[in-house]
Amino acid sequence: MLRKLTRVLFGKRSKAKHPAEPAPEVASSRGDRPHDRSGADARASLDDLDLSGAKIIEREDHNISRKSISPNAVKVLYRLNDAGYHAFLVGGGVRDLLLGDTPKDFDISTNATPEEIRQLFRNAMIIGRRFKIVHLRYGREIIEVTTFRAHHEPENEIQGDTSNRSIKGLDSAHSSAGMILRDNVYGNINEDALRRDFTANALYYTIDGFRILDFANGLQDIDNRLLRIIGDPATRYREDPVRLLRAIRFAAKLGFKIEDKTRAPINELAHLLESISPARIFDETLKLFTGGHAEKTFALLRQFKVGDFLFKGTMACTKDPESPASRLLVLALRNTDTRLAEGKTVTPAFLYAALLWPPLQHELERMLDGKPVTLLAQQDAASKVIGRQIQITAIPKRFTIAMREIWELQLRLATRSRRAAESIYQHPKFRAGYDFLLLREEAGEDLGGLGQWWTDFQNGDKTDQETMLEALGKGSTGPRRRRRKPSRKPANGAGGNA
Ligand code: ATP
Ligand code: MG
Repeated sequence: MLRKLTRVLFGKRSKAKHPAEPAPEVASSRGDRPHDRSGADARASLDDLDLSGAKIIEREDHNISRKSISPNAVKVLYRLNDAGYHAFLVGGGVRDLLLGDTPKDFDISTNATPEEIRQLFRNAMIIGRRFKIVHLRYGREIIEVTTFRAHHEPENEIQGDTSNRSIKGLDSAHSSAGMILRDNVYGNINEDALRRDFTANALYYTIDGFRILDFANGLQDIDNRLLRIIGDPATRYREDPVRLLRAIRFAAKLGFKIEDKTRAPINELAHLLESISPARIFDETLKLFTGGHAEKTFALLRQFKVGDFLFKGTMACTKDPESPASRLLVLALRNTDTRLAEGKTVTPAFLYAALLWPPLQHELERMLDGKPVTLLAQQDAASKVIGRQIQITAIPKRFTIAMREIWELQLRLATRSRRAAESIYQHPKFRAGYDFLLLREEAGEDLGGLGQWWTDFQNGDKTDQETMLEALGKGSTGPRRRRRKPSRKPANGAGGNA
């Protein structure tokens, strides 16, 4: 199908093929703004737009069917159109449908301003400061609507202090290093297409004739499975270093090769991520690992050295792919992909508990030099490891609390006493802790059959459980007080006190 797409001649569209609509009024001076219009006459038509920069693919020459688009997104497109605004499906929605995949969400691009959109939709919420967008909520689905953006004029260059204070009130601003600080100057569809990140993400689908508009040769790149940044790669990464992460995310998700020029500056510019707020980086890391391709994404992060910036400790402690710590991480990421493929949820706390487990074990080894791991030592090591990580990816507190609980459970699950077992079984994070324990065993740690004990315990009925608890004895000792023989040094730090 895609082959067919690139074979089509991208000639001028024939007007006869789309449903006849009343001719609209001439648009305003900007070329694509609606006049004050109302009723059926208000409907926006492609004829109003300057599409000289676009290849237009007719309905019969592409494989996107309106039925595969979220009904809510279709509703929004019609509502905007009927009110006299241009509105297109854009981004991942178009790209993924062309690839025969199910889009994660549907994004819409329009010439209506956020305020104009808010007037049309009761469920509209304007979000973002750097880049204002409108969220339209339909139950659990959010349709993201953005207004066509224009190019940046050089005047608002902010020297030095780039805090929100210094750019308050500006619609357009960039730092002296070329980073876009405010991106709220609206423009036309041509400009909007060229400010998007990758060619495959700059395709527009219109309900006016069900055509696709291609401003950046995106169809050809999709056909060749190439991820190509629009414009000069280094400039575009400097404008928004998060595009470095997006390049890796899309390469993993789509299975595309990163085109040579797009790939060339990635390593050299990875340090630019330092200028992005840790909160935004945290959000981006979740997108990296919850898109269904976490294992591949992690391998690419390592390959492109972007991983050294995001997860310095983790990368340093997983250089040997055969170590239990490395294997645990790979298994956790693979498990994440499988769960998502099965429609199950994954929690950031579990993911981060796995991502930071290798540096946690390394820290414990450094602190204890082979002595048994105690709860206190582990809490201390956890604070250090988490403290370093949140400088880069601001992990919200609710997740760091849950991560610590999962880690603590690794010690507590190994406490062999009736009282401890009964109390751990009631722990709200028991299941996560148990799953983590199984992963450690699967990764090659010898925990003396602990995982199997807990599996049998959960599978047993009340009588079986009672027998198992009875066999443990009454002891009420916790991991701190429990006497043990000098234990062996944890293999590559994959410790615990099992
Ligand atoms: P998915 O939703 O499947 O992760 P997507 O391509 O739809 O992929 P979004 O983050 O939803 O990605 O963004 C929608 C579109 O907005 C993108 O396809 C791209 O055209 C544009 N876009 C998003 N982020 C950027 C950015 N940092 N720089 C330039 N364009 C961007
Ligand atoms: Mg999207």
